[in-house]
Amino acid sequence: MTQHSLMLLPGDGIGPEIIGEVRRVMAWVENTHGVTFGVTEGLIGGCSYDAFGLPLTDETLENARKSDAIIMGSVGGPKWDGKTDYDKRPEAGLLRLRKELDLFANLRPALCFDALADASSLKREFVAGLDILFVRELAGGVYFGEPRGITELPGGGREGINTHRYNDTEIIRIARVAFEMARKRGGLVHSAEKANVMEAGLLWREEVTKLHAVEYSDVKLEHILADNCAMQLVKTPKQFDVILTDNLFGDILSDAAAMLTGSLGMLPSASLGESGPGLYEPVHGSAPDIAGQGIANPIAAILSFAMALRYSLDMGNAADQIEAAVGATLEAGYRTGDLMSTGMHEVGTKEMGDGILAALNEQ
Ligand code: NAD
Repeated sequence: MTQHSLMLLPGDGIGPEIIGEVRRVMAWVENTHGVTFGVTEGLIGGCSYDAFGLPLTDETLENARKSDAIIMGSVGGPKWDGKTDYDKRPEAGLLRLRKELDLFANLRPALCFDALADASSLKREFVAGLDILFVRELAGGVYFGEPRGITELPGGGREGINTHRYNDTEIIRIARVAFEMARKRGGLVHSAEKANVMEAGLLWREEVTKLHAVEYSDVKLEHILADNCAMQLVKTPKQFDVILTDNLFGDILSDAAAMLTGSLGMLPSASLGESGPGLYEPVHGSAPDIAGQGIANPIAAILSFAMALRYSLDMGNAADQIEAAVGATLEAGYRTGDLMSTGMHEVGTKEMGDGILAALNEQ
């Protein structure tokens, strides 16, 4: 029997509700795939602050480090907004986890389930079958570059400074992830930067080109300016397979693409390092407006678990089954409130979990 260790961090708001449904899908995988998941559970975000005065304790961090994969719900909420020191706010726990585990590669699929193609802001023919994987650099660039800050100007007034900075090692390690992913998918990488106006973009283009020529010439590489990429994403999104990009452009482009596919409640993500556990979490936040009502959509969390199976536990087959079961449940008309449209069957968090489990059992 294969044994995997998983760290569950349900977090705040709807986090515990959606992770509850992940637990049921985990049990299904254990029962059908001859594996056991040794599960450790911990607190992160506001609930950790309430219990320990910190949004992530050293003990939780060490338990996470020892696991094969970490599945998180969400952090934050109005209860803590402006009521803790800035470095103890709920989100600081998540940022520390990402930093300590050196999770530099953020994978965000933009996948359009056929049953939801009519819910997109684009016409069905542009999004039905859409399957893009964003590979976004997560640990560098303008969000972390020094110098940074707000300074007083000598003659009066103030100046805000951030520095966009990438070295060759950072570029090569994220590009390698994109090429490896493309090999397992459609074999095409679009690398998006602004080489026309930014030196860091020019270095990015040169390093990606070199790596491609030496190690990945079997993959097709296209360079695209990030602004053109934004336009192409809303014009003909199905031309893309893997989009490789930096921290800032990745933040914006992946959000835009995600919205082509329907609700925030559908979007999973993975953050990977060079070694050690990956962190898997829905893109959405803690949805305080609906927390505790049993109506949150658990699909983003369940699809995040599927990504953990695929990328950290080498169980791509089980991941395929879960993704197919989500598709079948949507085809059967199950919709949480965020996805609801006329003629569909409105369900709560647990009923959506029931539907997915029933679809899994039918496979
Ligand atoms: P949000 O993603 O929590 O919610 C935005 C809207 O989408 C809300 O109307 C919410 O009800 C809805 N929504 C989100 N997830 C849903 C789901 N699974 N099912 C149904 N509806 C869903 O974003 P926000 O309101 O801007 O932020 C709320 C809190 O979450 C804030 O404290 C913010 O800092 C935090 N946050 C955390 C993360 C994270 O944990 N990674 C990410 C984003 C925001």
